[in-house]
Amino acid sequence: MSLLALRDVSRTYDDGQPVHALRATTLSIDAGQYVSVTGPSGSGKSTLLNVLGLLDEPTAGSYRVSDTETVGGGQRLHGAVRGQLFGFVFQAFHLLAGRTAVENVEIGMLYGPLRRRQRRRRAEEALDRIGLAHRMHADPRRLSGGERQRVAIARAIAARPAVLFCDEPTGNLDSGNTANVLALLRELNDQGLTLVVVTHDPDVAGHAGRRLQVIDGTVREQ
Ligand code: ADP
Ligand code: ADP
Repeated sequence: MSLLALRDVSRTYDDGQPVHALRATTLSIDAGQYVSVTGPSGSGKSTLLNVLGLLDEPTAGSYRVSDTETVGGGQRLHGAVRGQLFGFVFQAFHLLAGRTAVENVEIGMLYGPLRRRQRRRRAEEALDRIGLAHRMHADPRRLSGGERQRVAIARAIAARPAVLFCDEPTGNLDSGNTANVLALLRELNDQGLTLVVVTHDPDVAGHAGRRLQVIDGTVREQ
């Protein structure tokens, strides 16, 4: 059974002139896959990621997550599915300065069901998993770009999601830190985490076992 299943999904933006950001797309992603999404700027990559991540609602079609139909399910269902199953990493790390690394990781679980103690334990566990346990009390301003992105990844995985969505996760990193983050993503996938990574960098895309390309709102396997 697929974990994520789009069926005939479209996303049209209507600002006077309709923009077909995603055209009748049927796509399923199995648990454990490592999927990259590439394509030219404006082709619909972020739209696909936002729809898959329940951050945006399709204008047509069906989207099942782990056998639950989400289209028409409303904000409450979307929020619950996101909270239980999804984690997100973006190009900008979005870490709070003036809070320690471990506090930043805890913030990701603030609106979840876990109590304070459990949040701290999960946050420490996540930082340990990404190899930054020793920087737990550091302010993000004192971390390198690669370390900051790893903290952002720790924040995204601390609640133990099934799927990690990454939008240009290495966009702000130099080649050394990129390699570092890619090694971490590989390791997380080896441990069973499903990955969906949007990138315009072919080297980054090459790390995925399954490569998708979006051109003018149409998704193709590569
Ligand atoms: P990519 O991530 O590949 O650069 P996007 O998914 O961001 O592409 O955008 C796909 C198309 O949808 C583009 O033509 C873009 O201008 C349009 N688009 C994206 N978001 C919006 C929005 N909120 N309102 C109107 N048009 C949008
Ligand atoms: P990895 O490279 O970590 O082994 P993959 O994403 O290549 O991960 O494969 C995970 C699962 O996805 C495997 O069961 C594989 O058969 C399946 N898979 C890989 N590519 C595709 C594809 N293009 N379409 C459907 N399933 C695929």
